[in-house]
Amino acid sequence: MSCLICAGQAESVECTRGWEERRCSRCGCYRMSQSLILLMMEEGQIFDAERMREWLMSRRDVIAVPSIDHGQAILLL
Ligand SMILES: [Zn+2]
Repeated sequence: MSCLICAGQAESVECTRGWEERRCSRCGCYRMSQSLILLMMEEGQIFDAERMREWLMSRRDVIAVPSIDHGQAILLL
C-alpha cells in the first residue's frame, strides 16, 4: 500500500466507511476521505507533502489521527 500524500511505503489501517487510513513512516498516521482521493485522481492533483506533514504535525496536538478532507488538502501547484 502506498502513502496517499507522498506515495511512499505505507501501512493501510482499517477505519470508518468512506475514509482511508494510512500509517506512513514519513507522514505518520492520518485519515483521508475517499471522495478527496477520487477527486485528486480525476484531476491529476498531487499533495504538497512537506506542507501536509506540517499541517498533520500541528493537528496531532489535538487529535492522534488527523482527518484530511477537501478543506484540508494542500496541493502542489
Ligand atoms: Zn507519506
